[in-house]
Amino acid sequence: KQRFAGRTAIITGAGSGIGRATAIQMASEGANIALFDLVNDRTSIVERKLNSMREGCALAVDVDTSDPGRMEEAVRRTVEHFGGLDIVFANAGINGSIGPIEELSIEDWQRTLSVNLTGTFLSLKYTIPHMKKKGKGSIIITSSINGNRRFASFGFSPYSTTKAGQVAFAKMAALELAKFKVRVNVISPGAIATNIDESTEPNEELESIIIPMEFPEGQQPLADGPGKPEDVAKLVCFLASDESSHITGAQIVIDGAESLL
Ligand code: NAD
Repeated sequence: KQRFAGRTAIITGAGSGIGRATAIQMASEGANIALFDLVNDRTSIVERKLNSMREGCALAVDVDTSDPGRMEEAVRRTVEHFGGLDIVFANAGINGSIGPIEELSIEDWQRTLSVNLTGTFLSLKYTIPHMKKKGKGSIIITSSINGNRRFASFGFSPYSTTKAGQVAFAKMAALELAKFKVRVNVISPGAIATNIDESTEPNEELESIIIPMEFPEGQQPLADGPGKPEDVAKLVCFLASDESSHITGAQIVIDGAESLL
């Protein structure tokens, strides 16, 4: 299937985990992809892999999504390079500092808000005009079940706050942009085996990365272990494609029933 032939996507946090798996899946279905990430060596590995699949389909862009000036420039460069923009996957995120509220510093709090919330805001702010111009577009934001589960993980108060905020932001954006035929949806994964705890190093053999992850038995009733980035990539590609043309403002949980326990 070539659902994305002739389309251009920006994927933030594309150097690792969910972003990387989505970049690979989308490129294999014809998309041109700007890989936004601040860890340049990881992003270059993904860029090389995609360009070996289809020459010229990937552009690595070294950018901190929470930096307004650099984001504006990165989006401008992408649109100039590929000639337009159809899909935005606002996915970059950090766990940030974890601990009891009284022990977290204001810097800890602000860093998590700045990457997870301001980064998401900027990922929409600078890209929306290009999709409005086309009269069509699809935006997907990565939240987490930690944003709205009845018990969030202990110590994750800044993270959970940002993940809940992303859901509200996505819904407001969906309402605002519906008349321009730009759709906005938000996904809430449960535990997914990625680098988010920074336990693994960049690796040329992407497929061979083994991720050690604490995962108590039964945490996801549907599965024996955490979800895979590729599971999430399939959902994101559905939301990015015309197959989901009547879906906007939706929050889709992808967690093997983890949040129901
Ligand atoms: P990951 O660490 O493997 O990948 C995240 C990527 O984002 C990294 O390459 C990192 O360098 C990049 N990044 C971080 N801050 C950035 C910034 N300021 N600017 C640009 N790039 C930045 O983690 P992942 O699990 O793939 O995380 C992707 C998203 O999924 C995050 O928003 C995370 O909150 C969310 N999520 C993850 C899980 C999970 O269990 N892994 C569960 C729910 C939600």
